[in-house]
Amino acid sequence: MKQRTIKKKIEGIGIGLHKGEPIHFSLEPLDPNSGIVFHNTVTNTIIEAKPQNVIDTTMATVIGKSQEEFVSTIEHLLSAVSAYGIDNLLIKLDSHEAPIMDGSSASFCMMLNEAKIAEQEQNKKIMIINREVEVRDGDKYAKISPSSSTEFTFAIDFKHPVIGFQKFHHTFTKQNYIEQISRARTFGFLKDFQLLRDRNLALGASLDNAIVLDDKKVINSDGLRFSNEFVRHKILDAIGDLTLLGMSYLGHYESFAGSHALNHKLTKKILSDSDNYTISELSNIKDITFEKSFA
Ligand SMILES: [Zn+2]
Repeated sequence: MKQRTIKKKIEGIGIGLHKGEPIHFSLEPLDPNSGIVFHNTVTNTIIEAKPQNVIDTTMATVIGKSQEEFVSTIEHLLSAVSAYGIDNLLIKLDSHEAPIMDGSSASFCMMLNEAKIAEQEQNKKIMIINREVEVRDGDKYAKISPSSSTEFTFAIDFKHPVIGFQKFHHTFTKQNYIEQISRARTFGFLKDFQLLRDRNLALGASLDNAIVLDDKKVINSDGLRFSNEFVRHKILDAIGDLTLLGMSYLGHYESFAGSHALNHKLTKKILSDSDNYTISELSNIKDITFEKSFA
């Protein structure tokens, strides 16, 4: 299987969740072995999507070089990029955050469909997980274990009548991702919004880009896209966060109540010991199955 970028530059516009301002952004092809690279044109900062560049995981995944030079909320865009098997891409934006779109990755998937995938000369590198790697925070955990496919099992338990306990298993293929995961939106609680706004955050948050819950129900008039949209979105986030491994991977990710912080810790822990994985170019029969998952 070959490395992938996109055939042509594509431009988009969206609102930033935190500042609430319009963001112009573009996705552009990059040469083989370049990786996924962000360019914040406000500060003219180039930041590679790598774990060592993560500077915050409190509200979203943030990569940067300093408190002034960063890009926030990269996970939904990276989730779509990862699902399309893209290895090399320039993401240019005139903002410190990636646009929130409708709170899911569906718009980014549509843009990638429009830009079309380009196969490149070099072989694609794939990380094969060799042994279980786990990170914990109390009863919360995220782990990855060996698997012949790329799969995700996520569980959450919220003391809320609409959410409660939800568990979802997703066997990754691009098609499964588009159908099961890409449309799942981020969610938040009405009571938290005021607190965030007091801190000058979530200024762009609205019912157009998040599922919003009061103490009893979803307040969006059109309701949910899936009854378990919440846990599906957690898988969307995990796929985005694990993009920072730097390549596609074969393994089973599992989490209970995982977060951007735990995903980041897991990514760092996997990469910290080269016995945890083997990097392969899969230039044999297994390649065909793997390649099919990105068809
Ligand atoms: Zn999210």
